[in-house]
Amino acid sequence: MNAKLVAFAAAVLVAVALVVLLVHGENTPASETQPVVTTQPAPPEPPTQAVPPPSRGQPSRAIGKPWAGRLVGGVQLPPEGVDFFTWDPPLKHSPNRDWRRWGTDRLLGTLAGVLAYYRAIHPDAPRVGIGDLSRPHGGSFGRRFGAPGHASHQNGLDVDVYYPRKDRLERRPPAPRFVDRGLAQDLVDLFVAAGARYVFVGPRVGLHGPRRVVQPLVLHDDHMHVRIKPR
Ligand SMILES: [Zn+2]
Repeated sequence: MNAKLVAFAAAVLVAVALVVLLVHGENTPASETQPVVTTQPAPPEPPTQAVPPPSRGQPSRAIGKPWAGRLVGGVQLPPEGVDFFTWDPPLKHSPNRDWRRWGTDRLLGTLAGVLAYYRAIHPDAPRVGIGDLSRPHGGSFGRRFGAPGHASHQNGLDVDVYYPRKDRLERRPPAPRFVDRGLAQDLVDLFVAAGARYVFVGPRVGLHGPRRVVQPLVLHDDHMHVRIKPR
């Protein structure tokens, strides 16, 4: 149990370092973040609560609803990272385009925390595929931005996460039989532990979780749709 807690705390600290990097840009020397990782681990907490708000600038604001809203002060997810690649659904390639990768600082913090913990428990797993978030200022993200489009993804609280593939390829899994269900279930569990409001999963993929959070939804057999709480 102790080893698990230490791994969790270390993962949270790495997540904090990632968020600091995201907020301060990629030019921050690695040495500046080292002391954060090597300090005494704090008591473990769910990733969303452990990741602080950005230390400079205004916090992001998710305005309105995910299906009728906009995003103020959004943060851009990089095109790729050590633990993730991004995937462009209409163009079917990686990385995803710049304007499809915006979310609230809190969403990016949640993502960073989950990815860091996932890496800690699966050091040899392939990188996780991240799909669309929101547009730079949110708003409509329907079919005119590329089929199939999104009914939600409008205020920086939604992100699509592709299920890991058994063959480890960094592409969307075209059918449930390509999905590594064990790894996919761990990702679902981590988003639930991080306090996600909803995790929508494909009816044919065989993933589960608390019914009020993890819900089956058609057209989600290649990715899970994660929605975080506004705050
Ligand atoms: Zn989605």
